[in-house]
Amino acid sequence: MRLFGCVCGQFHSPAEGLGMTGGRVAVPVPFYVIEHPDGVALFDCGLPASMGDPQDPFRQALQTQDLDVTFGPEETVTRHLERLDIDPARVRYVVLSHLHFDHTGGLHQVPNATVVVQRQEWTAGFDDDVAARYFLRKSFFNLGHPVQQVDGEHDLFGDGSVTCIPSPGHTPGHQSLRVRNSQGDHILVGDACYNSQVVESRNFPAFSDHSAMNRSLDNLLALREPQTVMIFGHDPSQWGAAAVLPSLRA
Ligand SMILES: [Zn+2]
Repeated sequence: MRLFGCVCGQFHSPAEGLGMTGGRVAVPVPFYVIEHPDGVALFDCGLPASMGDPQDPFRQALQTQDLDVTFGPEETVTRHLERLDIDPARVRYVVLSHLHFDHTGGLHQVPNATVVVQRQEWTAGFDDDVAARYFLRKSFFNLGHPVQQVDGEHDLFGDGSVTCIPSPGHTPGHQSLRVRNSQGDHILVGDACYNSQVVESRNFPAFSDHSAMNRSLDNLLALREPQTVMIFGHDPSQWGAAAVLPSLRA
C-alpha cells in the first residue's frame, strides 16, 4: 500500500481565519492518494478544475470575501493522478472529510468513484439551513456518484489499513482518516485542525462548533503512538517549498 499527499492549489487569506498569526498567509489545499491492493482511494479531492481560471465566477466571489486562490493546471486532481500513473477512471473510493468546496471540488474528475462520507455530514449537506451555516455547496458534491454513508468508525478495505475516524465540529459530520502500515500510522486530520499551531491555540474557525472540535482534536491526539504522523488540514509548514512554488507559477 502506498500513500501520497498532493497539493491542489493554495489559499491566500488573512492569517486569523486559519488560526495563524501574521498578515496574509498562503496555505496548501491538499488531498491524498492511497494505492491499496483492492483499489485506489482518495481522501478529499481538492479544488474544482474550473477554479484555475482567474475569471471563474466562484473564484471571483471568494475574492470579495478576501479569500484568493492560486491553482495551476498541473495541480488538478487529474494531473496529479496521471503523474502517479493512475487513471482517474479507476479511482474506487473518495473518502470525503467533509463537504467544503476545497475538499469536494475535484469530484467531477473521478467519475467512477464511490463517495464515502459520514451520514451526519451528507444529511447536513441537504439541509438548507445547516448547509448555509456551514458553507456546504451542493453543486460541488451532488454529482450523482454512488454514496456510501457511514456512521462512526469505518474500515474502508476491511483489513484495518484505512479507517475513517469521526471528528465532528468543523462541520457536523467531519471525519479524519487513519492510514496504517507496518511502519506506523498516518492520521490525515483534515480540517479538524488546520495546522500545528491550532493544536495548542485551539483557535478554531468562527463558523464551527468549538466544543465539538475540542473533543474531536483531543480524540485524534489520543490515537497517537510514537511512530504516528499527524498531517493537518492546511498547514504550510508541513508541505514546505513544494506547497509554495505552484502558487508562484500560477
Ligand atoms: Zn473545511
